[in-house]
Amino acid sequence: MPRRSIGNSSKDAAVGHQMQKVTSRSDLHRIIVVGGGAGGLELVTRLGDRLGRRRLADISLIEKARTHLWKPLLHEVAAGSMDVSRHELDYLAQAYWHGFRYRFGEMVGLDRAKRLVRLAANFDDEGRLITPERSFGYDTLVIAIGSVTYDFGTPGVKEYAIALDTPEQAQLFNRRLINACLRAHSQADPVRPGQLHVAIIGAGATGTELSAELHRTVRGVVAYGLDRIDPDKDLKITLIEAADRIVPALPSRLSSATARLLGELGVEIRVGARVREVRPDGVVLASGEFIPSELVVWSAGVRGPEVLKDLDGLKATPSNQLVVLPTLQTPRDDNVFAMGDCAWLVPEGEERPLPPRAQAAHQQASHLVKQIARRLDGRPMEPFVYRDFGSLVSLGEFSTVGSLMGFLAGKGMMIEGFVARLMYRSLYKLHEMALHGPLKVGLDTVARALTRRTEPHVKLH
Ligand SMILES: Cc1cc2nc3c(=O)[nH]c(=O)nc-3n(C[C@H](O)[C@H](O)[C@H](O)COP(=O)(O)OP(=O)(O)OC[C@H]3O[C@@H](n4cnc5c(N)ncnc54)[C@H](O)[C@@H]3O)c2cc1C
Repeated sequence: MPRRSIGNSSKDAAVGHQMQKVTSRSDLHRIIVVGGGAGGLELVTRLGDRLGRRRLADISLIEKARTHLWKPLLHEVAAGSMDVSRHELDYLAQAYWHGFRYRFGEMVGLDRAKRLVRLAANFDDEGRLITPERSFGYDTLVIAIGSVTYDFGTPGVKEYAIALDTPEQAQLFNRRLINACLRAHSQADPVRPGQLHVAIIGAGATGTELSAELHRTVRGVVAYGLDRIDPDKDLKITLIEAADRIVPALPSRLSSATARLLGELGVEIRVGARVREVRPDGVVLASGEFIPSELVVWSAGVRGPEVLKDLDGLKATPSNQLVVLPTLQTPRDDNVFAMGDCAWLVPEGEERPLPPRAQAAHQQASHLVKQIARRLDGRPMEPFVYRDFGSLVSLGEFSTVGSLMGFLAGKGMMIEGFVARLMYRSLYKLHEMALHGPLKVGLDTVARALTRRTEPHVKLH
């Protein structure tokens, strides 16, 4: 692919209609990745190392957050078993170390004819402008902005339930949880029914993993001296699922095994239960039954972010995902790619699209690193082939994980216990390796293991 040639250097930041148009200072091919999550950050890091540092292309990341935390860790943040500061990564530093530019801001639109990505302005807590509305020019654009929880318009969800889409939401839930424990411990009256109850709506991997993790961490918090709470009597976790079994995406054998393990922990499971409304003091089911709960987590249903609904005519599904070809290019514009949760790809010979999973985002990032290099060399791109390594559900420290390994075993196979736990952790290690390389990951792992011995195993504030 021929390199793009562009205009001015010092005067390239042209202001027009309040919108700052920022163009690159070089005549290198401009690659922009929007969204630095499980897939996008791996991609931009590796493109930066491979092309950016060697001045073979101009690589930028547009991201609305300032730090990155791998999303599958969010239930651990919510439960209090993970300290965000030990795992989050500063985008600015990552960009500096790996040869790409970090552009802070939220993509709010696209101009495909002019090849511009539009970003909203950013303001600080006092309302002062941090970055104005801007637009950035691209030659190749990769959209990797993930997914968001969808509440199907259920009344009360926005007001009284918390989703786990961002580290801020997970931390908010954790603060409310600790506050609820402190309140119950210090009040004159006995703990009232429903006061320390948690309802988790949606028993996919997120809700299921959260219920097991919460069971452990709340007991951990109480054990630090909140002795007016009796965990067995006062704490209750209810997992509510509209389908007829929990983790419906897994084979039924695995979902029964998971339900059995959760049952042994005392988690109450309600399947075939549709939620009609969330109230400040609990959840109303379609049957009219009321489940009292002080804390409610909504983890049912995902869809693409709203901005994808109409992104300058790119083809999107009703659930706001961008339709992509096997090369991960959008059918109406071959300069625009999409990957990860926000992409809709039905593999050849399959009926269902790829699942919104970190392993799909990871594989697509690895694929696109090679394919974008081919594109720059003018060579044809190869199609993406997804390898399903199975699905793992972590049930915290008690019962570890049940899993199905499709690809490695050649056919479906159930694994459980230590091996499954290792495999579960290995997905995060692969992500860390893609971002930092083996040396830093090794040192970090040892450092975390050492410091963990001298710290509380649950977050207490
Ligand atoms: C609690 C939980 C547990 C999970 N567990 C597992 C698991 O065990 N295994 C598994 O395979 N998957 C798991 N998943 C799913 C997995 O997290 C996602 O599939 C994966 O993160 C998708 O990667 P992505 O790169 O597409 O998007 P994300 O990782 O969500 O990243 C999207 C990025 O885009 C940014 N962004 C969004 N909108 C904009 C915008 N308009 N402009 C600029 N930036 C934007 C976001 O800030 C974010 O950094 C879990 C998810 C959750 C919530």
